[in-house]
Formats: sequence, structure tokens, C-alpha cells
Amino acid sequence: MYTNFQEFLKKELTSIEEAGLYKKERVIVTPQQSNIKISTGQEVLNFCANNYLGLSNSPVLVDAAKKALDQRGFGMSSVRFICGTQDLHLELEKKIAEYFGTEDTILYAACFDANGGVFEPLLNEEDAIISDSLNHASIIDGVRLCKAQRYRYANADMAELENCLKVAQAQRFRLIVTDGVFSMDGNVAPLDKIYELAQKYNAMIMVDESHSAGVVGHTGRGTTELFDLKGKVEIITGTLGKAFGGAIGGFTTGKKEIIEMLRQRSRPYLFSNSIPPMVAAAGIAMFDMMSKTNELQDRLHANTEYFVSGMLAAGFDIKPTQSAICAVMLYDAKLSQDVAAKMLEEGIYVIGFYFPVVPREQARIRVQISAGHRKEDLDKCINAFIKVGKELRVIK
Ligand SMILES: *Cc1c(COP(=O)(O)O)cnc(C)c1O
Repeated sequence: MYTNFQEFLKKELTSIEEAGLYKKERVIVTPQQSNIKISTGQEVLNFCANNYLGLSNSPVLVDAAKKALDQRGFGMSSVRFICGTQDLHLELEKKIAEYFGTEDTILYAACFDANGGVFEPLLNEEDAIISDSLNHASIIDGVRLCKAQRYRYANADMAELENCLKVAQAQRFRLIVTDGVFSMDGNVAPLDKIYELAQKYNAMIMVDESHSAGVVGHTGRGTTELFDLKGKVEIITGTLGKAFGGAIGGFTTGKKEIIEMLRQRSRPYLFSNSIPPMVAAAGIAMFDMMSKTNELQDRLHANTEYFVSGMLAAGFDIKPTQSAICAVMLYDAKLSQDVAAKMLEEGIYVIGFYFPVVPREQARIRVQISAGHRKEDLDKCINAFIKVGKELRVIK
């Protein structure tokens, strides 16, 4: 009978709402891109999508998807190992490995699945997983599914990581796991130092490049490019759902025996559908484009610098960023909500983040820059921040 449970849920939902934590969804009635229209009819500039390269509505990707839709149909109706593999899936896996300079790649329906299915097949109770405290929820869930001993170090704290590594000498294998870019501050993991420690303490490394792939590094290859460690990290996970077109799909790329074992034993791969042909085809077209030019990365890096310097000049407090994520610090939860609401009135769509998503007293607006933003879009955003910032006495 539902009655008691219904009462219980209603109470829970009310308490979520009363705590100000209820997540409401704004409805977009255009394609995802830098200028969007929302269901109220208002046209706004979008500064809160993970559309870092502006590819969510790219004609190149849309055309590739349409062509594949005509030639290869809509869905696969199967997992990969039964009858869910087209040549397109294999080609995309190869392109991803080429892009990152790795040995092999395995596709998943999402990076959430890649992270959910990477630990349990590789490690057991004899082993150690050493994880950054700010790692993505999917890594935390993936680690929970694995019997390895768990260690946690404070965000990017190398002294704590070293302590964990010392204690973890008791285990057979050690895997250090980190996000490449942390989504709230936009800081990168100190992969150079992590690599040194991994060498010293005989550990492997896994980096989740979801917010860094396509973005970080001169040619967008991610943190392994930034720190000159291409091909040296054992496991990279990433998503096709952010910079790389923003549709759906995830991957694990790295050492070939690791990928081979995942194909045999990774549960989200074995027991969940393969990505639609049109998504694989669009991914192939996207990586082909990436291998020819760094134009989008150049534009993204220039846009980010332009935005950050404009905001700093106006007197805003921005966390040092090494990605396309710019945290405009406000330190007060209500203020972050008020600023976001007034920014929307100015035609700028940004989101305020506050506890428990970020620590108490660390409320902020997270701005995400895209190669799809034009200079006038960035100016409009900066000017709106200045107007709202003055009104709410954030700046003078
Ligand atoms: C977004 C994100 C994911 C999830 O990616 P999906 O492909 O959308 O499931 C995983 N890890 C990190 C670090 C992310 O930022």
C-alpha cells in the first residue's frame, strides 16, 4: 500500500523545499547553445552549460548524426557483446585513444557508468583506492561498489596523499583517483606531483577528464597534456556529454589490458545498451575536427582570459582557474541566489551554488565560458555582473 510511503515522501519533499534545497528545472525551448530561449519566452545568454567548445548545436555534428541516422538506423537494441557493436563504435574508440595518446578505449552510455564500472572489475580487498575528497559523485559510487580499501585525501593536498600512500603500502596494488578539473573551483589536479608520488610509492593513476577533456592543455587533450604526462597515466575516464558535443556517452581509455578486462567484466558495459549509431558518428566527426585544428581551444582560452581579466578589473573576487570554470565568489548563500536572479533579468543565465554543494561561507556564482561565446556576449555578461554587483554592493 502506497499511503504511508506517500505521506513519508510528501514530508521529505517539503523539508527539502523548506531547507531551500529543492531543485527546480528551467525549461529551454531552443537548441542548447550560447543564446537560448526559455519557456517564459525570455532570450538569455547561457553561461552555465558544459558546452565548452560550443559544439552542442554544431552543424558538423548534427550533419554527421543525421547521416548516420539514415544509414545506420536509430538504436542498437543490444549490449555490445551480444549484437550492439557497429564499426562506428570501434572507430570512435580508436579516435578517443588517438586523441589522448592511450592504448585502447571502451565506450559507456555515460561517464557515470564508466566510473561506476571501472573499479570493481580491476581491484579487490587486497588493493587500495586513494581518492581526492572532491571527486565526482560517480567516482564515489564506483568506489563503493569495489571491495578495495578506501583512502581519502583533502582536495589536491599532496601531503595527505603521501600519507595515504605510505599506509597503503600494506595493500597489493594502489590506485590514485582524481578529477582532472574540479567542477566547483575550476582548479586542476596537480597531476605532476601526483605522478611523482605514484612513482615513489608504486601506485597507478586514474584521472576523470570530464571537465578538462577538450578544454585544458594547449590542444585540449586534458591534464595529461597540461603536465606533459600523455600516455603515462594508466586510466582516463571522460564524457561525450560536455565539451565533446554534449549529447551522451562516456569512455574509459588507457592501458590495453585494463580496457580488455573492463570489456570482460565491467557491469555497466556488459549489461547496458551501447550508444546510438548517430551519437557514435557525431563523436567520430568531432574527433576528426579536433585532430585538424585547435581553433576552438584557442577561442575558449582567449574567452576565459578575457572574462576573468574583465571581472577582476571590475573588482570581483574570482577563484584562480585553470579551466573554463570561473567561480565568482560571494560567500553568502542568499546573495548568490539574489545575484543569479538579477543576472537573469539582465538576460544572463548563471547559477548560484551554496551549501551543501560547496562549503558553508563559500557561496558563489559558477560561470562557464564557451568557445561559442562572442566577445559581445562576454561583454554583456561582465557588464551585467557590474550592474548587479553594484546594486547588491558586491563591488563598489
Ligand atoms: C559530468 C561528470 C561525470 C558524468 O558524466 P556523464 O557522461 O554525464 O555521466 C563524471 N565525472 C565528472 C568529473 C563529471 O564532471
